[in-house]
Amino acid sequence: MNFVFLGPPGVGKGTQAVALAAEFSIPHISTGDILREEIKAGTELGRLAQSYIDDGNLVPDRVAVDIIRNRLGKDDAKNGYILDGFPRTVPQAEMFEQLLKELGQRLDLVVYLEASEEVLVKRLSGRRVCRDCGKIFHLVNMPPKTEGVCDLCGGELYQRPDDQPEAIRHRFRVYQDKTADLIRWYDEKGLLTRVPGDIHWEKTYEMLREIFASIDGGSSEIN
Ligand SMILES: [Zn+2]
Repeated sequence: MNFVFLGPPGVGKGTQAVALAAEFSIPHISTGDILREEIKAGTELGRLAQSYIDDGNLVPDRVAVDIIRNRLGKDDAKNGYILDGFPRTVPQAEMFEQLLKELGQRLDLVVYLEASEEVLVKRLSGRRVCRDCGKIFHLVNMPPKTEGVCDLCGGELYQRPDDQPEAIRHRFRVYQDKTADLIRWYDEKGLLTRVPGDIHWEKTYEMLREIFASIDGGSSEIN
């Protein structure tokens, strides 16, 4: 069972993917996590990736595909995986299709977690972070006992610049512009499923779990 997860920042894609991966015993493969680990470990790939990031660029398609090729070759990925953060572009998706052929695998489904800009603004702009210990609160979902004060350490709570409404709107629009072609591409191949990400977290999870269960048992290997 091989999945790709797509969705705008703040939709809860990573959280859902981590929980599903644990329940279905397949790895959650996040290209962001892999890059951070490689950079931290100072590997050749890490240094290469860092040089692009330092110059303010995205990692090129070819490098992104090499990262995925390495990761999918590991034993724990033999029975399936959830890809998060790859592919990001149509050229990457085309290279990924080629890679799957080489590996004798197929992609079962691309899950697109959808949410409206308004819901994401509401959700993310309620976040407050402790200046001292980094604990995250939410004005609606997890309010501190005393307004503006951290429950754990008494530190001052603040709103990160990233979580301010204008910044959230900007990130949302950039994401949509960048992924519109990719979503259309997978839609035309009949691989795309849209799942609402702006309802209660658990309801989204239930829908995803049903989708996974319906594919589990079918083999992702091509003989
Ligand atoms: Zn604190």
